[in-house]
Amino acid sequence: MGYSLKIVQNTVLKKKPINSSELSDNEKHDIATGDYELHSWVDFDEDDNHWRVAFLNDRFHDSSTWLVYTGHVEIWKDDIMIRPLFPATSTLLKDYKPCGTAGLNGLDRQIIAVMNELSPGSLVDFSDLNISVAGPHVHPFVQAKAKHALAKAIQKGGRRLKLNSGYRTIAQQLLLYNHKQQGRCGQTLPVAVPGTSNHQSGLALDTPDWSFWKEILPDFGWRWFGLRDRVHFDFPGTHLGSHAIKAFQILWNRNNLNDQIKDDGQWGSQTQRRVNSSPVEGFGTSLNGFRGLRLTEPPFMEGEDVKKVQQALIDAGLSVGRTGADGQYGPATFAAVKEFQAREGLLVDGVVGSVTLRKLGILEL
Ligand SMILES: [Zn+2]
Repeated sequence: MGYSLKIVQNTVLKKKPINSSELSDNEKHDIATGDYELHSWVDFDEDDNHWRVAFLNDRFHDSSTWLVYTGHVEIWKDDIMIRPLFPATSTLLKDYKPCGTAGLNGLDRQIIAVMNELSPGSLVDFSDLNISVAGPHVHPFVQAKAKHALAKAIQKGGRRLKLNSGYRTIAQQLLLYNHKQQGRCGQTLPVAVPGTSNHQSGLALDTPDWSFWKEILPDFGWRWFGLRDRVHFDFPGTHLGSHAIKAFQILWNRNNLNDQIKDDGQWGSQTQRRVNSSPVEGFGTSLNGFRGLRLTEPPFMEGEDVKKVQQALIDAGLSVGRTGADGQYGPATFAAVKEFQAREGLLVDGVVGSVTLRKLGILEL
């Protein structure tokens, strides 16, 4: 556990950030490909081309710190590559302008998954009831008591309940809040600060059929909000807003090892900034927040990032197995990566990091 320096191409440790041919023998040290444990490292402020590293175990005993050229190495913390930072190729929440929240589905699913880890069973799926949802952005989750009441109300109503909104993640809530703050999307209704809406607690739903359901739902404990927010109904229950925020904070920390925040379940500017900086398609699905692809025990790593690498390997004339670019980092993909690395004179470890990505043409230099 800890930081390591992965030397992907044979390189030189330096005392000064200049070309190695201009350094005297005691100002440089050859270092071969491989993984080296680090005591610590920092970005080198004086230029963008070097990091300053300190090796564990005093390995290069003649000096405590060295500079390394960023083009030949990567810095890892455990299984996640943290340098180089990739240019943001994904859409961050703060830059997301569409009025609908469907584009946030990838991030939403990751937040909901962590929420279910945090408090198993606190949210139950009610898609088995007679309902229809307006799109993939509508998450049919409520607390168990609220579902029980809803089941009875729908039976009494005798018709399908159409949903415009159900469980809303804090990412969705922040998007609505951003729209309101920036005067977009004709957002005239009041928008709750993320974490405070009953939609984040699994205690609310919005239906376009409000005039029908306002005569039925209240008999089963679901309150109608009145004309101020006429599509909205909510149910009394435990507030899970801080759970919803904590779930995001944990998700962020898992994917941003070099930018850890407090997972205290409190909404504040620190958390708001991180939600705004989250990729709407979810973490690890694009090159932003790259997780470093490798062969794992099953289940294998999977996602769009794997698919991109597989396609590039196929384009380079290598086979990734019978199923082609299936998005699964299995043994055939692992073998193809190693073959590619050997061909390119790189460290042959079957792990896809920045240098391999560049050689594959996925990342520009
Ligand atoms: Zn609502």
